Parts: sequence; C-alpha cells; structure tokens
Amino acid sequence: MTDDLLEDAIVRFEEALPHAQLSEDAHERLRSPVSSLKVSVPVRMDDGRLRIFPGYRVRYDDTRGPAKGGIRFHPGVTAAEVTTLAFWMTFKTELMDLPFGGGKGGVAVDPKQLSASELERLSRGYLAAIADVIGPDVDIPAPDVATNELVMGWMAHEYAKINRGHHPSVVTGKPLALGGIPGRSSATSDGAFHVIRTVQSRVLPDIDHPSVAIQGFGNAGSQLATRLAEAGWRVVGVSDSSAAIHDAGGLDVAALREHKKATGSLADPPVGEEIAAEDLLCLEVDVLIPAALEGAIDGSNAERVRARTIFEVANGPLTADADRILDDAGVQIVPDILVNAGGVTVSWFEWIANRTGDRWDEATVRERLERRMVTETDAVVALADARDLPLRTAAYVHAIERLSRSMDATGTASLFGDLDG
Ligand code: GLU
Repeated sequence: MTDDLLEDAIVRFEEALPHAQLSEDAHERLRSPVSSLKVSVPVRMDDGRLRIFPGYRVRYDDTRGPAKGGIRFHPGVTAAEVTTLAFWMTFKTELMDLPFGGGKGGVAVDPKQLSASELERLSRGYLAAIADVIGPDVDIPAPDVATNELVMGWMAHEYAKINRGHHPSVVTGKPLALGGIPGRSSATSDGAFHVIRTVQSRVLPDIDHPSVAIQGFGNAGSQLATRLAEAGWRVVGVSDSSAAIHDAGGLDVAALREHKKATGSLADPPVGEEIAAEDLLCLEVDVLIPAALEGAIDGSNAERVRARTIFEVANGPLTADADRILDDAGVQIVPDILVNAGGVTVSWFEWIANRTGDRWDEATVRERLERRMVTETDAVVALADARDLPLRTAAYVHAIERLSRSMDATGTASLFGDLDG
C-alpha cells in the first residue's frame, strides 16, 4: 500500500489541474521531491545492545520558503510514506499562505517498545544524522505521529550542540521552557474546530447537536473530541490502536481521556461498549473524523461508511478510490490539507517568535490562528462555489495557484515568453 501512496497522492493533485493555472514546468517539478535522505540511526539500548533504526527526511518543495513538516516515529514509516507526507505538506503550507515549502521526516520504530532514555538517544541520534540537511532557513521539523514537545526539545538541544550556538527556530513544537509557543500542542485540534465551525451550516444544515465518531485518540483526536463535546456534539464513537468504543447516547470524553492517560490506551474502557475497529468507521453518524493514519478508508471499506460528512484530521486518511466512492454516495469531504493545518500554522508563529526573539501570549496565538483558519476556509469554500468543485479539489486549486505563481517567478519558464516586456 505505501509504495502506491505517492502515486495515489499525485493522482489527486492531477485531478485538480484542469481547474487550476499551473505551468508545465511547475507540474514537472512537483512530480518529485527536491531532496530525500535516508539515514541509519544507531541507538545503544539499555541492555547494552546496539540497534540500528532506518530514518528519513524529505524536502519535497522549498519554492516559497524553508521546507516545513513533522517527524513521526512509527513502525510503518517508509521512504514512500515520508515522501508522500512531505508532498501533502507542500500543499498545506501553500493553502495557508505560509512562507514555507513542504517537508517530512520519520523513523521506523515502535516508540512504545523504548524506555525514556532509549527514546531520547534515538531522537538525538536521528537529529544528528539529518543535521546537515535541516536549518531555520532550509528545513524545519516539528511533531507528528508519536513525537511530542519533549522529543522536539531534545532535537533542538542536539542541534544547538552540533552547531555550537542557539538556533531555536530550527525545530517547532518545543516545550515552552525551550522557546516553544503557548497553544502549539492544541493547535491541530483548535484549527480543525475552526474549520468545522466555519463550514458547519453548509455541510450540516439544520443539525444542532451532530453525532460524531473519531478514529484516533492521540493528541489531535482526543482534544478535538473534548472541544466538540463542549460545543454540544454527541461523541458516539472513539478508537485508538488498541480499542474502539461506542455509545449511541454519547460517550463521556473526559472519562476516556483520563483512562487513556492512566493506562496508555483505550482498552477496557470505563464507559461505552467495545466494538470492532472497522465498525467504528461504519457507524451511522453525521460526522466521521479519521484522525489516525493515512489510508484508513480505501476502496475496500468506503462503501460501508454511513457518515454524511468527513473531516480529515489525519494526513491522507482517504485513498483516491475511497474519495470517488464517497463522492458518488454524496458524502461531503473536508480535506486534510485544510482541516489539520492549524498545527503548522502555529509552528509558523513559533518560528517567527524565535527568529525575532519575541514572546507571544496565548491569546494572540489563538486569535491569529482562528483568523487564519477562517480566512483560508472561506477562500476554499468560495472557490468551490465559484467553480462548482468538491472541497478537496478547491483546496488543491487554491494551493496550486499560489505555488505556481511563485515557481514561475523563480523559474525560467517566463524567459521563453515575451522578453521585450
Ligand atoms: N505534523 C504536522 C502536520 O502534519 C505539523 C507540521 C509542522 O508543524 O511543521 O501538519
């Protein structure tokens, strides 16, 4: 599946092309990444053995600024997956009008099998291995699946040691004590919430208390569950990699978050009933939120989806096949590059604060995040209406047109036009 992932992502991008202005040069450049690095990260384990973990960092595009994107620690990480994630970051930063390109990194490792000190050695070892290809003006990592502010703090510290100086803007999503910004850890769910609120009357007219199922109960999924429950939504299903929980009357989200914090997973939940993981995606709900990994809904299970609307909080949770099936069934899909863009947007604020030596308070972060999310969501919706496009295609067109203008301005394509002007 992962080897086809980039091709699948490129298909979606190319589907948007007939509706967008993109030069042939820019199209050709966007078919492959600017640079890809594969590294082997040696880690001395607590028992004295040496283990080697494969790691990757891909800079897909850096036309409008340094590449930007997270680092994930997951056993399924491959070169193809990281490349695809970097491809999606390219359009996400364009869509949000951030002065960045797209990048991504990852290590093939199951972090749950590591002790805290092994995790620190892995994080520092990975950073040291990619140190030559990142930098505040080159490529800026951040958290992604199974990496958090602790990991970002170790990485920023390691970079400072290697370069013998302070460069806090090389990594975002750091702890506050190391130059992080308030509101970064809730930024993805806050951003998703603003998108949902902005399009709610359009995609869920006449529903006061929508029902929602959320696949993935990590940082983004669990915080969004809380925000939606507080806004009067009925959270009828949630799942993580160990269990799926259901209650048609609405789950006690706070109790489930407490349980996950205490035990590390949703297994043996204090509320609701356990159901099969696959059945969570097929619940009859107003809204389904895939917030775990890519490819959760594909050609094999899309027909069983019973939701009216899908908000993609994960990166790439629907394959192109799933898109077609759901589109035919009239399911509205609000795409990942818009819905989950709050994280990288607050990363941008952190990068600005680090570079200027300024401190931003939480109210400023929240207010500017909301403004940015609402502005770009409105722009995507307006484009969808004006050109009669699905929201995903409209989001890509919006991003592609911005990127194309910059690529053509830096490239030689314009030289083949009218030189007299
Ligand atoms: N990993 C997040 C994403 O997929 C955040 C990236 C960042 O902050 O650079 O958007």
